Amino acid sequence: MPLNRRFRDVTRIGPVQIGTANDGRGREKHTAACTAPRCGFSADYDSRAAAELAARTHRCPIR
Ligand SMILES: [Zn+2]
Repeated sequence: MPLNRRFRDVTRIGPVQIGTANDGRGREKHTAACTAPRCGFSADYDSRAAAELAARTHRCPIR
């Protein structure tokens, strides 16, 4: 399910990838998305720190 947004500064923490993208209104959105199969976690955050924290503390519901 690729998103049609241009992410930059993509990093990876565990299975979770974090990318920064503009939301079209000149504001930045920081998205954390888990790449593990069948997990499906993804969320937008207002700050990079929040996204990284979510990535670090994320636990896949399915192992
Ligand atoms: Zn996960």
